[in-house]
Amino acid sequence: MVEETIFSKIIRREIPADLVYQDALVTAFRDISPQAPTHILIVPNLLIPTVNDVTIEHEAMLGRMITVAAKIAEKEGLAEDGYRLILNCKHHAGQEIYHIHMHLVGGVLLGPMLSYSFKK
Ligand code: AMP
Repeated sequence: MVEETIFSKIIRREIPADLVYQDALVTAFRDISPQAPTHILIVPNLLIPTVNDVTIEHEAMLGRMITVAAKIAEKEGLAEDGYRLILNCKHHAGQEIYHIHMHLVGGVLLGPMLSYSFKK
């Protein structure tokens, strides 16, 4: 039994969120604790806890997450300068909410992709 998170309540509009997009497959809303001038979460309406749990049946909604991200980025004025899409998986990546979500961040020069330093 997969446990629901606060994101399911946002998707069903049972609790408030700053919604920017919703269709039959995905919902997008502004992150409550933004890490950049634009920080939006794009979430499949179906609860999938982590990227480890995706299956071939989820491909349509996973693809929709990216097309919606691109549409929102255009609307938010990010398309020309660019932006970053981030999907965190479990504790090494810092995933806090176990309902897959794509972070769309932009509006500023974002700097290095990762905050730790790695030397091979
Ligand atoms: P992650 O660390 O990838 O699991 O990211 C979870 C994100 O969800 C964080 O950036 C939080 O700020 C964001 N978040 C948590 N609760 C809410 C909420 N109620 N509305 C919007 N964003 C939220």
